[in-house]
Order: sequence, then structure tokens, then C-alpha cells
Amino acid sequence: MAIFKKSIICFLISFIFYINTFAYNIFIDPGHGGTDRGAVRGSLIESQIALTISNLVAKKLSAQKEIIIFQSRTEDSTLQLKERVDLSDKISPDLFISFHINSSHDERAKGLELYFPADKKVDFNLKKGVDAKSNLSVLIMQDYLNNLKLHKSKFAAENILTERQTEGVFTIQKRKILQAPFYVLSRSKVPSLLIELGFLTNKKEAQLLISQNYQEQLAQEISQGIINYIHSIK
Ligand SMILES: [Zn+2]
Repeated sequence: MAIFKKSIICFLISFIFYINTFAYNIFIDPGHGGTDRGAVRGSLIESQIALTISNLVAKKLSAQKEIIIFQSRTEDSTLQLKERVDLSDKISPDLFISFHINSSHDERAKGLELYFPADKKVDFNLKKGVDAKSNLSVLIMQDYLNNLKLHKSKFAAENILTERQTEGVFTIQKRKILQAPFYVLSRSKVPSLLIELGFLTNKKEAQLLISQNYQEQLAQEISQGIINYIHSIK
């Protein structure tokens, strides 16, 4: 009986090791939600469209056996920005990705915009229990981890952009990779992206963003870009 128990424990340890080694965790954050509806244009609501497309991306990525998906919200609920980042940091995913819908005073503005972090604000809490002599090495490590986060975030954005350029059926969108100090990007401890999926203020693009075909296509291209990214980093 003791040998049997030991075998079970060994199996469980091996299984957990297997899951941690080969699984990729992706954290999906549909922007806004609940009392915060984001941009609103007539009956079109940013928080709802972002949630629909986020759920599609989550579904497509979940179909990959090596990917585990976490979401800040799966329904129309209210969440503070800090709660989103805290949830993600607890899991420490391979990528944090927040989805939003853009708006502009210029009704002609259109297309996908991919943002990665603009600064190195993250405190990785490396100073806990460290004496003054080791302070320099802590600073060097802190800088290294921040650079790694920025590098991987940009690389993830490039993978998604490349996928969209080569495979995209809908070619009317302008495509951009930008840096911005958005809260969720600056505070996240892991590689992070914020994607503005298109402009609610552009009539043509707003109609595309609520069309099921376009949502599917967009989710497919973004998912493939994320898959390409995670396969490149491990
Ligand atoms: Zn937004």
C-alpha cells in the first residue's frame, strides 16, 4: 500500500512538472465592463465588443492543448485596472493581453493599434531581505527583468502584426505598433500588450467590428500571432 501511495505521489509530481514545463499561460483582459462601458457610439458599446472578441480569442487559443487561458472577466462585470493586473501577476502568464476598441475625433481614423509598455516602472520586489551590499545587483537584475519584459512585449506585438499582414483578408486597416504608458502595461510584471481592435468612430470599421465574420477573422489572426509568439520564446 505504501509503495502504491509513493507511486501516486511520484506521478502527481511528474504531472505537475509536465504541466508547468510545457503549458503556456495567456491572460486575456477584455477592457472596461459593468458600469464602465468605455466608448459608446449609438448602440455600439466598447466593453461589449471587446468582450465578444476577447472570448473568441480565448476559445481559439483554448483549442491548443499546450495553452491555458485565464481571463479577467468573461461577462459584463466591473473591474478596476489594479484588480486586472493583480489577477494576472498572481498567475504570472507568458503574456498579458488587453483588448479595447478605439475612438477618435477624426472619423477617418481606422485600423488596428498594438501597444507595448513605454517605460520601466515595474518593481519586481527583489529588495525583500536583501542587504545594502547587494543593492547594486538588485538594481541590475531589476533593470534586466524590465528590459526582458519590454523586449518580449514588442516581440509579441510584431508576431501578431506579421500574422495580420500575411494572412489578413480584410486589408483596409492601417497597422501600427506603438508604445504607451497605459496602467495595465506599465504595472504588469509580465510581457504585456494592449490592442485597440479598430475605431468605433469610423462608420465602416464600426460595422465590421460587430460583424460575426470579421470578429472571427480578427480573433483567428490574433490567436495565430499569439501562438507564433509563444512557440518562438520557449
Ligand atoms: Zn478602452
